[in-house]
Amino acid sequence: MESLALLNTLVGFDTTSRLSNQMLIHFVKNYLAGFGVESRIVDSEDGSKASLYATIGPTDRPGVMLAGHTDVVPVDGQDWRSDPFNLHVADGKAYGRGAADMKGFIACVLAQVPRLSRTALRTPIHLALSYDEEIGCIGVRRLLEVLGGLPVLPAMGIVGEPTSMRLAAAHKGKTAWRATVTGKPGHSSDPAAGVNAVECAAELVCHIRRLAAQRREQGPFDPLYNVPYTTLHVGPMQGGNALNIIPGYCVFDFEIRHLANDPPDSLLTAIRSHAQDMLTPAMRAVSPECGFHFAELASYPGLLTPPDAEVVRFVQGLLADGSQPGSIAFGTEAGLYSERCGIPTVVCGPGDIAQAHQADEWIALDQLAACDRFLDRLLDRLV
Ligand SMILES: [Zn+2]
Repeated sequence: MESLALLNTLVGFDTTSRLSNQMLIHFVKNYLAGFGVESRIVDSEDGSKASLYATIGPTDRPGVMLAGHTDVVPVDGQDWRSDPFNLHVADGKAYGRGAADMKGFIACVLAQVPRLSRTALRTPIHLALSYDEEIGCIGVRRLLEVLGGLPVLPAMGIVGEPTSMRLAAAHKGKTAWRATVTGKPGHSSDPAAGVNAVECAAELVCHIRRLAAQRREQGPFDPLYNVPYTTLHVGPMQGGNALNIIPGYCVFDFEIRHLANDPPDSLLTAIRSHAQDMLTPAMRAVSPECGFHFAELASYPGLLTPPDAEVVRFVQGLLADGSQPGSIAFGTEAGLYSERCGIPTVVCGPGDIAQAHQADEWIALDQLAACDRFLDRLLDRLV
């Protein structure tokens, strides 16, 4: 299977998000060039990483974009039974970091290139490969700027994240933030002489919990999702140095995963104004430098492609699946392609998200085969 051979090569590049993905991108560029396909490379700001955009077929027509990210999550601290960067095939499964998320899809797409290059396409295929997706859909943004400048945009996009080859047209958006609390340190024997940054942070965390409960109880709701409402969650928190010192500093991260039609702005405003109006005055009364500071870590929009959109009907046709498109619990770049570039986009790719990000990540060989057949049918439609 050509896609399996290509997956073997792609998994061999350690493209953990903190590392460069350039070796992989250059492999793809050379591979495409071998079939006479030119690529456009979009470097990251510091030049250490790159996205790739290539068009196969006529360049003056919209066509179909196949998109994916080339980075993978770290294997640190995971107990792998085989080398994660050396594809290992056993029992109908291919094991390796990124096999499911989402080098399997990229391998299947690349496996089509020989046939694509021999075929006179009426409608072009565009290939969009990004970096730094796993750390908040960062890398695709520069690619979006380049796309914005193109005379003709793709008419539709398919992001090949692992959905077990089922069509998904909706996912939540996410915004992640870091709150830094400045207090006033002092001896713990006189708490009123200082400002306890940990306690102030805790007050704001409680407010975030109240907002989360409000959404959980009052909605808005979308029955398409297992968790059918916008969620708020507080993650890592750090503060204080010793029990006998009033903590002068505390930092915590929080996120909002919102329904596409419940933008997070009002929640963010509620969090900020609680900090500023309810908590800060008492802190400043003790010391003027006390207060809260908020910094955005990463955000991406939700995806909500209407069930009657052309891309939905088109992909349903390729899947020979009349069922309504579903939703996925994880975020993708599809919302960005839709929202920023106006390219109606859906998510459909081989492998199961349950295996993504895990030790011994794997993709079933029959999923690769199903994706190969899907892309075969796609090509049949474009000639
Ligand atoms: Zn992914």
